[in-house]
Amino acid sequence: MTTNLTRSEAQSRTQLLEVDSYSVHIDVSNAETDADTYLSRTVVDFSARFVDSTFIDLIADSVSSVLINGESLSPAAAFDGARVTFPVRAGRNSLTIEAQTRYSTSGEGLHRFTDPADGKTYLYTQYEPTDARRVFANFDQPDLKAEFIFTVTAPAHFQVLSNRTEARTEPADGSAGAASANGSDFATSAGSESAGAVTHYFEPTLKQSSYITCITAGPYEGATDEWTDPRTGQTVQLGAWTRASLVDHLDADDIFGVTKAGLEFFTSEFDYPYPWGKYDQIFVPEYNLGAMENPGLVTFTDNLIFRDKVTDANYESRANVILHEMAHMWFGDLVTMKWWDDLWLKESFADFMGGLALAEATRFTDGWVTFALRRKAWAYTQDLYPTTHPIVADIPDVEAAKLNFDGITYAKGASVLKQLVAFVGREAFFAGSRLYFRRFEYGNTELADFLECLAEAAPDRDIANWAAAWLGTSGVSELSLQLTTSDGSSSSADGSAGSSTGSSSAAAVAAQSGGRGRLVTSSSGARLRSPDAVDDSIDGATGAAHEAGSGASGRAEPPRRRSGSEKITGATITQADSAEGSALLRPHTIEIATLGRSGRAIVPLDSFRFEFSTESADVEQLIGRNAGVITLLNFNDLDYARVRLDPESVEAAVTSASRIADPLSRALVWSALDNAVRDGLMPVQKYLTAYARSLGKESHAGIMAGLSQTALTCIDQWVADRNFDAAIMGLLGAALDALSAAKAGSDAQLHLANLVLALTSRTARCAAGSSAVAMGRGFASQILAVPVGEEIDRMYAGAPGQSGQSGSAGQSVESSGGARAGRGADHSTATLPFRGLINDHALRWNALTALVCLGWADQTDIARENHSDPSSSGRLHAETASAALPLPIVKIRAWEAIREAGALSNDVLSAIISGFIAPSAMPLIEEYVDEYFDGLLGFWMDNSIEIARRLVLGLYPRWSVDEEAVVEKTDAWLAANVDAPAALRRLVIERRDDLARAIFLKSTQSSRH
Ligand SMILES: [Zn+2]
Repeated sequence: MTTNLTRSEAQSRTQLLEVDSYSVHIDVSNAETDADTYLSRTVVDFSARFVDSTFIDLIADSVSSVLINGESLSPAAAFDGARVTFPVRAGRNSLTIEAQTRYSTSGEGLHRFTDPADGKTYLYTQYEPTDARRVFANFDQPDLKAEFIFTVTAPAHFQVLSNRTEARTEPADGSAGAASANGSDFATSAGSESAGAVTHYFEPTLKQSSYITCITAGPYEGATDEWTDPRTGQTVQLGAWTRASLVDHLDADDIFGVTKAGLEFFTSEFDYPYPWGKYDQIFVPEYNLGAMENPGLVTFTDNLIFRDKVTDANYESRANVILHEMAHMWFGDLVTMKWWDDLWLKESFADFMGGLALAEATRFTDGWVTFALRRKAWAYTQDLYPTTHPIVADIPDVEAAKLNFDGITYAKGASVLKQLVAFVGREAFFAGSRLYFRRFEYGNTELADFLECLAEAAPDRDIANWAAAWLGTSGVSELSLQLTTSDGSSSSADGSAGSSTGSSSAAAVAAQSGGRGRLVTSSSGARLRSPDAVDDSIDGATGAAHEAGSGASGRAEPPRRRSGSEKITGATITQADSAEGSALLRPHTIEIATLGRSGRAIVPLDSFRFEFSTESADVEQLIGRNAGVITLLNFNDLDYARVRLDPESVEAAVTSASRIADPLSRALVWSALDNAVRDGLMPVQKYLTAYARSLGKESHAGIMAGLSQTALTCIDQWVADRNFDAAIMGLLGAALDALSAAKAGSDAQLHLANLVLALTSRTARCAAGSSAVAMGRGFASQILAVPVGEEIDRMYAGAPGQSGQSGSAGQSVESSGGARAGRGADHSTATLPFRGLINDHALRWNALTALVCLGWADQTDIARENHSDPSSSGRLHAETASAALPLPIVKIRAWEAIREAGALSNDVLSAIISGFIAPSAMPLIEEYVDEYFDGLLGFWMDNSIEIARRLVLGLYPRWSVDEEAVVEKTDAWLAANVDAPAALRRLVIERRDDLARAIFLKSTQSSRH
């Protein structure tokens, strides 16, 4: 048996078959019992072009009957666990299969969830790429589109939804209804479960692919509305649903508002009416992804129903997801890729269109800001892995397809489409899209089909050349600018002249560490610059040497900053590719801006459009202009490229990024700093100093979230152990100060409170007696002293033992830390003023988990908290906190539970893993490094791919005290398992690359004690 359907198998079926319709009946009337399986019956009507034998996909516990054209086949002979093989005749055929299929707990297939809050049971399906076969027999590939007629028998109190509206219902009194045409077997097997159940008959779907069929069933609740297309008068019924325990938090007005704005935007921009009749959106539990674009019934994670207070970044993100899925109604559902190689034809487009609609049709008018900082970081990260791939990928099978829902397919693809729009013009881009929908509606396409439409719409642009450079290659261009200004100085992003050593990819990291002389090379075998070269190339700006007022070292001159009135006398832009040795050149359409001071703000002085495709080009337009304080390539973020700021711009950014008035420019500058620290071109300490300065000044919720994500990555992975205490103390001090000054009830206040708690849990790793621990613990304890719904009206942020803070560890990392340590004396003596933060379950759980990591709370505290929050979210928090208790016996039990992952649901598994690897004062899980590598193949083979992915990624031992040994063990595993599934190897290689980067970045850090 193999569940790994290949592209060539799918192509053979495409050549043989044309599918007319499926009639599918599932009977889930036993959903609320402890039954493991339910009855699934499919009748497929199809034509074959010639006589042959083929198979239909079905993952089932058992098959009770197989009928092909009236002939009965032996299920034992025909069914191998994943496929039913049968003969076909030329012309029309009819196949009937009856099976027992399994309720899922992995989020794949028909997921079953019982809400701990009220004991109610909910079902929903999730199929992409090939899990429809876990529910009913079908040819589970995107290009065999068909009509689907669903019939569902369910408990009478269940609401049942599918892609189409319900035609009628009738009591399922054991006769199992009209869908059981061939009934006796079916009626017998279903009858006993069906007493008191109701059978729901749905209208036939339009022609669509199997992976976007959908059924939800359970006591879901919600709201309805409708939208009328102002252009055509077409009315679309809207629904928003979730489980009963969350429905009070379902803000249907906000959801419908975004939905209507999106429908109006897309129907008008695409000049194509909404194709799928109604539009239900349902928020479901334990969902593996953000959402899924099933036509007429979009499923979303119910993490998007906000029980606890969240920032505007979360509302923006939800609006973005709603619009992304809606764009799929055209890109993906109406016109679908032939095979998963062209997954980008729907995902990149939906990601781009989601961003565009967000910015142009909703209140989130600066929606591209978060895209520039966070979405693109996802793409850059993925594009630097040795496993990166072109946007148009080579996907030989469905296991590869499953892993291709990645930063390339989504974020890079969307970024490149943004560049395409800049290249051909918005009008031509939409004209090409309209052509594409009309020409291929209800059909399947590949890249060439879209390019043809685009070329017709933009005849004066070389689309083929553009596509080859952008869609057919992997890697990311790095753009830098060499400037000379009127005082004769010269600066370039690579620092000292001629020191450019090429790539910055962690795929090419070689690190010599700790005097032990072990060389850590990337899996690709390439090597980068040595740590010494890094120190040279960043203009001496390592560590705290030139932090104002630190006086820690006289080693280097402070880097130059531009006066703000200098004139540019020379400017050359260059592009290089991230892959070392690659001379890959791409055509870039960008905008360039000089940013200068206006009062206390930094604003664009000048900007202009610039196109180039050569390795370097003179930028004549800059000559004679005011150089300002920051020169920004890729202003307005049209391009997909990592921008290197010149050294003077870096210095201005590090001290003053928060003063850049335009949030998109601010995000782009931070993105450049993010890339620089990631590549070892900027010291981690310097980045953290800049970040600490931004706290309390940055107010854009999306930027705050993006910066904190990078800062926590620095703390978790990139700060050298010897610098850890000082680094976290610096951040905690800055965060506490900013928190005490934050506006009551603001996003910044909530963000900073959670940041303090996140840092506090990490202080578990500090040396014994570190005062950093006490700094955060005071705040966490205060939160737990205030009941849910009440205001946290004071803030103890006590840090007894101030002398410890400004001691030896304090000053080496960053003066921000040192300075904070000095002022930190305030924290110990009094409560800080504090108003306006209303306590909720999420804050309390975060506080409790932090205290658990520190050994200041125990299982009794966890049980008490769970008692007052028995929701599913409470349950997950409790699982995490319980597994985070810093006791060997807890880790042993958690590991046992993890090894039996099949018995857990997807989210419970992740919650336990997250607690298992939580920060602790002692290395409690070191012995599991070897267990991990011994267990890897088993993780993959014994579990569905979703569960396997959570195990392989979540448990990768980057937490080990001996990171180099882990890299060596990874290499040994890769060498010994060259035949392991490619998808598994890919995950391991990427985690190894992250770890190699961490080792490299740690090795570059100075320690000045
Ligand atoms: Zn999508």
